[in-house]
Amino acid sequence: MNLSQTCDVAVIGLGAMGSAALYQLAKRGAKAVGIDRFRPPHDQGSTHGETRITRQAIGEGAFYVPLALRSNEIWKELEAETGERLLTQNGCLIVEAASPVSTGVIRNAFLERTRKAALAYDIPHEMLDAAEIHRRYPQFTPREDEIGYFEPGGGYLNPERCVGVQLEQARALGAVTELGTQVISVAQTGDGVRIVTDRGELSAGQVIVSAGAWALSLLGEPFKKLLSPSRQVMHWFEVDPDFRQHWANSPVFIWSHGPSPNDFFYGFPSLSGSKAIKTAGEQYDAFVDPDEIERTVTPAESDAMREEHLSGRVQGLRARALRAVTCLYTVTPDSNFLIDRHPESDRILVVSPCSGHGFKHSAAIGEVAAQWVLDGQCRIDVSAFALSRLRVAA
Ligand SMILES: Cc1cc2nc3c(=O)[nH]c(=O)nc-3n(C[C@H](O)[C@H](O)[C@H](O)COP(=O)(O)OP(=O)(O)OC[C@H]3O[C@@H](n4cnc5c(N)ncnc54)[C@H](O)[C@@H]3O)c2cc1C
Repeated sequence: MNLSQTCDVAVIGLGAMGSAALYQLAKRGAKAVGIDRFRPPHDQGSTHGETRITRQAIGEGAFYVPLALRSNEIWKELEAETGERLLTQNGCLIVEAASPVSTGVIRNAFLERTRKAALAYDIPHEMLDAAEIHRRYPQFTPREDEIGYFEPGGGYLNPERCVGVQLEQARALGAVTELGTQVISVAQTGDGVRIVTDRGELSAGQVIVSAGAWALSLLGEPFKKLLSPSRQVMHWFEVDPDFRQHWANSPVFIWSHGPSPNDFFYGFPSLSGSKAIKTAGEQYDAFVDPDEIERTVTPAESDAMREEHLSGRVQGLRARALRAVTCLYTVTPDSNFLIDRHPESDRILVVSPCSGHGFKHSAAIGEVAAQWVLDGQCRIDVSAFALSRLRVAA
């Protein structure tokens, strides 16, 4: 690359958000270049591991609902264009105590907030008591005081294929991708942005930074103070033969079972051809440098997953995990997304990171980003994700 290479918009980071943004830019005819230090889809960032839950009523905040609904439309458009299976709507079950105790900012009264979002947006759903949950899904054994919210339109996405398909479509529409290329710095000049990489330089009219857990090291302050990457682990447990049918037909599930934000886990059905289910908890206790993260998962970590979350709640799984891998969440102080112009560089739009629930919204976030840089405004209101709310709080 050299500075004679110019483009309308450069997208730095081609994971969930960046691949969606590049696709949407190319669809609108922009001269777009996407840059990634790895070769997406890859397993070094936040977007790997076969599955991501998607829901329509969003308990993290009703302002997310338009992003989730629009994303589903885009996934379906992509499926029709490419013949790929990206979205499986096998239903989503949320389990929580009928009178939950506080579990921190993001998932406090999560089930009730989900139900209210469903009512506000007319999203089909059912409320189930513990006995009914167990009757329908014998693999789940909730306590008597726990209830369920079931959304038939929920389900899961294939994150690797979503990224792959959007990059393929972007290239087919004329976008250029520079893979295995690390961006070292981004700086606004008079009428553009200068991007220095380990393979040369590039100038762009505008830049979208969707670098996930690396956004803070690339952008510096104020992002360094506001973004916290954390190490997460996904585990695959083998299904007992007696429960194969139940797990194959299972909805995705999210289960909050205690007062700490860590008293939370989720999981998926066994996928076709697999004898295991994927399940995971969440850990926010230690923040990590994404280049230094410990990628090895010890058997003790999978044992803790079983003892702290699965035991007594889900049935039909063997004790030992078949495999486990790490992944990265990046969270803001209020756990909501950050999508805004850089405070000192109005040609730089930051659309990453998006915490532990961003994937389901990523197709629409890519569209929002493309509309924002090309038209100066976007059709979905993303003012809830403005940088100013975090700076005021700080
Ligand atoms: C274990 C786990 C489970 C999750 N479950 C769900 C779920 O069920 N449902 C849901 O909706 N969401 C879920 N999420 C969240 C969702 O996956 C993330 O919000 C989303 O994938 C974040 O995408 P991103 O584009 O911000 O980051 P990434 O996909 O990591 O993309 C960032 C990209 O930037 C590149 N990059 C970084 N720095 C540079 C640089 N200097 N130069 C060039 N390239 C660079 C990286 O190589 C990477 O490809 C989960 C996340 C994890 C980790």
